[in-house]
Amino acid sequence: MQLKRVYLYDDPEMDGLDTEALGRYLRARLPQVAVEVRGEFFTHQLRRVAEEDQGTAARELAKQLRRAQVKDLVHPAERRASGREDPAELGLGPVYRAAALQAIMSVLLHSSEAGLDHLHIVLAGQAIGDWDETRQFRLRVACLGQPSIVSTVGLVEVPRRPRQYSFMRAHLVALGLEEDLDDLAEAFGRQALGYGDPRINDVLKGYALMAVFYRLYGEGPCADRTCRLYDAATQEELLACQCGPRTRLCRRHSEMLAAAGGRPE
Ligand SMILES: [Zn+2]
Repeated sequence: MQLKRVYLYDDPEMDGLDTEALGRYLRARLPQVAVEVRGEFFTHQLRRVAEEDQGTAARELAKQLRRAQVKDLVHPAERRASGREDPAELGLGPVYRAAALQAIMSVLLHSSEAGLDHLHIVLAGQAIGDWDETRQFRLRVACLGQPSIVSTVGLVEVPRRPRQYSFMRAHLVALGLEEDLDDLAEAFGRQALGYGDPRINDVLKGYALMAVFYRLYGEGPCADRTCRLYDAATQEELLACQCGPRTRLCRRHSEMLAAAGGRPE
């Protein structure tokens, strides 16, 4: 197996997240790989810098992160013709261009951990996205590569919630009944991932494996809706393929994992 070490970075801001448990899951799937669970990515990397240089390094990092932020959701080529769309209106904090955030993180990796036999998986509290081919800005769950970023916010916000939920939510907002939104979220709780939802730990297993498969085989998500590597478009699909009682990899991906020395579920 080409993969020797996996580093898994925690998102300390995400309630209900159990990164140690995800680390144990990866160890069970990949018994020949050393899996190390670490704290928040930027904190971990900055700690490696000599103490007297940490202030400068932190300021430089903040500057780079500001540059990677999306300031306007309108595609750069369309900005003359249309008004500005403020990402703040999404209510998700700063939104980053996925590839730009990945590039910033990649430079911070220690050279001894940057080789192809090392894989860094960052559970990130940042919202990430990019413009698609129709110049629409799309939030994303994951950006695979070195490091592979999985946005914990993205897991809650990107896969579509049930149509009825969206309809009723818009209805309540139109009537000015915002105080009823929590009840509505609770009523639909089983059907969609919410903040603090412990099911995020099951859902992340699939995304962590996606990062592993991408590294091992250069392959993206699976087309089989029952496979952990399926890239779910809706919350319903997401919960079905990651949290169901018979959740596992499809046959082809189970065989590929076994061929690489891993142990499928
Ligand atoms: Zn599959």
